[in-house]
Amino acid sequence: MNIKNSINYFRQKLTPQCRLIAVSKTHPVETIAEAYEAGQRIFGENKVQELVPKYEALPKDIEWHMIGHLQSNKVKYIAPFVHLIHSVDSTSLLQEINRQGKKNARVIPCLLQMFIADDETKWGFSETEVEELLSSTTIRELQNVVIRGLMGMATFTDDRKKIQIEFNKLNSFFIKLKNADLPPNVQMQELSMGMSGDFDIAMQEGSTLVRIGTAIFGGRNTNNDMV
Ligand SMILES: *Cc1c(COP(=O)(O)O)cnc(C)c1O
Repeated sequence: MNIKNSINYFRQKLTPQCRLIAVSKTHPVETIAEAYEAGQRIFGENKVQELVPKYEALPKDIEWHMIGHLQSNKVKYIAPFVHLIHSVDSTSLLQEINRQGKKNARVIPCLLQMFIADDETKWGFSETEVEELLSSTTIRELQNVVIRGLMGMATFTDDRKKIQIEFNKLNSFFIKLKNADLPPNVQMQELSMGMSGDFDIAMQEGSTLVRIGTAIFGGRNTNNDMV
């Protein structure tokens, strides 16, 4: 895998409103440094215990995105530096991010992860749950988080039509919220959807952030995925 070529490929392929997150989970610091040398500054990780040492070892102008399931008791380790948490899947997690944001004198940007797939293994809110959360008094009290948009993962399938329908539905909900009356700390700007296998569909359906691992760094020889 030539990392530089892959990154340049995506730079050409992505539309101006869609940015590339290089998903570097399981790959060593040296590999990430190679992508950094090629000009990539946005990286995604799915485990706190990998994210923290990589943040410490690598240049500080990298934007680190947390894209994997996040446990409340681990928020404190990433709160000082994380650029965007894509995987907020419960109100209690959002409250803990707010608490840690306050401790670090930061407003931490978050996306609400939505369940759009058929798979039983994926986390996330339903549309009703998001609407309830956004109209609650709870959300208004969270001064140290800002909701920047939504994230979703399509069903793991070869059926591209099915994936397209799922992304299209997520985008429709995103647009609906964008046009709704939202609290000041909710701004619908980012729609995180699309991975190596389906980024082109996601981009067509309005994605602003694609999360690409395999197509940049090659395969991962662990079971680390999507936990
Ligand atoms: C691993 C992962 C990706 C990247 O997947 P690829 O198929 O390797 O591009 C994207 N999003 C999440 C949440 C992931 O865990």
